[in-house]
Amino acid sequence: MRIAVLALQGAFAEHQQMLHSLGVETFQVRNKCDWEKPKDGLILPGGESTTMTKLLNELDLLLPIQEEISQGLPVFGTCAGLIMLARKENGKPSNRLSTMDIDVCRNAYGRQLGSFHTEEAFKGIEGTIPMTFIRAPYINEVFGDAEILATVDGNIVAARQHHQMVTAFHPELDNDTRVHAYFLNSIPKR
Ligand code: GLN
Repeated sequence: MRIAVLALQGAFAEHQQMLHSLGVETFQVRNKCDWEKPKDGLILPGGESTTMTKLLNELDLLLPIQEEISQGLPVFGTCAGLIMLARKENGKPSNRLSTMDIDVCRNAYGRQLGSFHTEEAFKGIEGTIPMTFIRAPYINEVFGDAEILATVDGNIVAARQHHQMVTAFHPELDNDTRVHAYFLNSIPKR
C-alpha cells in the first residue's frame, strides 16, 4: 500500500512517520507530477487551511485532488485537513476541496483554549483514543451520508463519509497508531 501525503506545509512528516511505523509506504505531494503517481489513499495534514488552499490553487492541484476524491480516492484529513474537506463553514458553502458533507467551525475553541489534550471514545475502536487539539476546528453538524465517529464535550471531532474520514485532533502527534490503522483498514485491497 502506498499513501500520498500532501506536503505543502504543516504536520506532514509526523503522518509519514506514523504510516511507516505501520509498515506503509508514503510519498510527499508538492506538485502536479507528484500527484500523478499511483496511490491507494491521501492524507491532508494539519497546518493552516487558508495557506493550504492558496498553495493548492497556485499549483493547479485543487481541482485534480478534488476530482480524485469525488471519484472515490480514500482520504484522511486532520485539523486543517478536515477544514479542507468540509463542504460548508458555519452554514455557508466553502471554496476549498469541499467534498465531504460536514459543516465546520474554524478555530472553534478560541485563542486561549486553542490547544488541549484529552482522551475519548472513537466509534469502531476499543477503549479511548488520545486526542491532541491545536487551534482546532470542530464540526457543527454532519449531513448527507456523513456519520459521527467521536465527540468531545458534545462537539463533533471526528467523522467519516464512505471513503472520506476526518479528525479535528492530531493522531499523528500521539504514540497511538489506531486511528491511522482504522483509516488504512477502510481502504479497499487491490
Ligand atoms: N486553525 C487552523 C486552520 O484554520 C488549523 C489548525 C491545525 O491544523 N492545527 O486552518
